[in-house]
Amino acid sequence: MNTAVVVGSGPNGLAAAVSLAAEGVQVTVLEAADEVGGGARSSEAIVPGLLHDHCSAIHPMAVGSQFVSRFNLDRYGLTWRWPEIDCVHPLDDGSAGVLHRSVDQTAAGLGRDGPRWRGAFGYAASRFDALSDDIMGPLLRMPHHPLMLARFGAPTVLPASAFARLFRTPQGRALFGGVAAHAFRPLHYPMTSAIGMGIITAGHRHGWPVAEGGSQSITNAMVALLSELGGKIETGVRVQTASQLPPADITMFDLAPEAVAGILADVLPRRVSRAFSKFRRGPGAFKVDFAVQGGVPWTNPDARRAGTVHVVGDYRELAAAERDVHAGRMPERPFVLVGQQYLADPGRSVGDIHPVWTYAHVPNGFSGDATEAIIAQIERFAPGFRERIVGQAVRNPAEFATYNANYVGGDIMTGSKDIRQLTFGPRTTLSPYSIGLPGMFICSAATPPGPGAHGMCGANAAEVALDYLGTRLAM
Ligand SMILES: Cc1cc2nc3c(=O)[nH]c(=O)nc-3n(C[C@H](O)[C@H](O)[C@H](O)COP(=O)(O)OP(=O)(O)OC[C@H]3O[C@@H](n4cnc5c(N)ncnc54)[C@H](O)[C@@H]3O)c2cc1C
Repeated sequence: MNTAVVVGSGPNGLAAAVSLAAEGVQVTVLEAADEVGGGARSSEAIVPGLLHDHCSAIHPMAVGSQFVSRFNLDRYGLTWRWPEIDCVHPLDDGSAGVLHRSVDQTAAGLGRDGPRWRGAFGYAASRFDALSDDIMGPLLRMPHHPLMLARFGAPTVLPASAFARLFRTPQGRALFGGVAAHAFRPLHYPMTSAIGMGIITAGHRHGWPVAEGGSQSITNAMVALLSELGGKIETGVRVQTASQLPPADITMFDLAPEAVAGILADVLPRRVSRAFSKFRRGPGAFKVDFAVQGGVPWTNPDARRAGTVHVVGDYRELAAAERDVHAGRMPERPFVLVGQQYLADPGRSVGDIHPVWTYAHVPNGFSGDATEAIIAQIERFAPGFRERIVGQAVRNPAEFATYNANYVGGDIMTGSKDIRQLTFGPRTTLSPYSIGLPGMFICSAATPPGPGAHGMCGANAAEVALDYLGTRLAM
């Protein structure tokens, strides 16, 4: 029987483990933390019974991912719950850009930008299932649907600032810009439309759901399936040197490239080691979870019904804040993402006290305290928020890196999504999962298709590993 060791139990490590175990490989997962799940963990904090997602919270990319669908994770307890409204981007005058699952409903709310929104996203959203065969893997390979991909892909090379000019209303511009800013890149840089277009298109197909019982439920479902397939998980094992790796036919690293270079220091081919140690990092995240009596009193009524609220102001303010964090300056008014998962999954609340998940984009390694800036930004669009806070828990960039070694300097994207890394992954190659050693692969969010709890980096890497096993057998 073939054997595999997977280092790291984030969504990609577990997806790789499941994909290998499903083909009869005997898999052992080694995880540094005391719990499994990496960026898909949740727990009670602040107030007993109040459930918070530690990292990933909103899942437009996971809900329809080929990995999640192939393995029917709902059979293992994963249930998706949708908020009434996917995402709202409020403005100072009380209005907002409002993103619904339906393209038509979104367009209807955007006034004269409505036809433009429909034109920009309608075609791709209605073909998203086919399109995802091409965009949820390495970008540079023979496409399954070349014409469709070309039509979707052409505008993704644009800077988000150029794409945003398609929209004439402050609401339309801000709505697009806020989603594009999930890329953690200055919005005038080329290809910064890509991640936003992917998330918006996926959302118009599948919505922006949360996992019932917290994102931990995604992990729990994968762990249950892996165990059914005979896989084993050992927690509290931090792999730091090659000598710690048990012998196996396949070794899969759900790790940042720098960590792989460190572990395999003496054996990694020089060209790979050089590329991995030059891996570029993006800005950081500063997270504050709040316990809020009665929820956030947003001025905009749609924001009170939305799973996600993008808090920063208009497009210009957003662009300035993203430029600042990229340049290493902490903006006075940062971009803050607010998650109100409890609206779709009320079991996370305790009576009238609700868990509110927030994080701000901050410079990589930011050592200051962004709590007050986050509260002030929310207060700006929800006067009275401050008085409703009954407790809070903070995780700064340094604490993120301790919590999960993949998040160097608080970079929760596992690397900058600049053109090169977004196109190729951790090094310039057409084999992004390969690390130049037989039977060894990297499968973290540093590889295509990139961040998210969709498991597709792991599933794709496992496919390459299975091909390798097949070829080895044939020799
Ligand atoms: C605050 C925050 C908000 C986010 N929001 C969302 C969201 O709403 N939606 C979404 O889809 N995604 C979101 N993400 C991103 C998502 O969580 C990640 O992209 C995803 O978890 C990446 O999965 P992964 O398997 O590549 O790695 P990770 O989840 O980072 O897991 C890596 C695992 O490897 C372990 N590890 C590291 N080093 C070692 C070692 N040396 N030995 C053994 N084990 C090791 C770590 O402990 C960890 O468990 C968010 C992330 C954060 C932090």
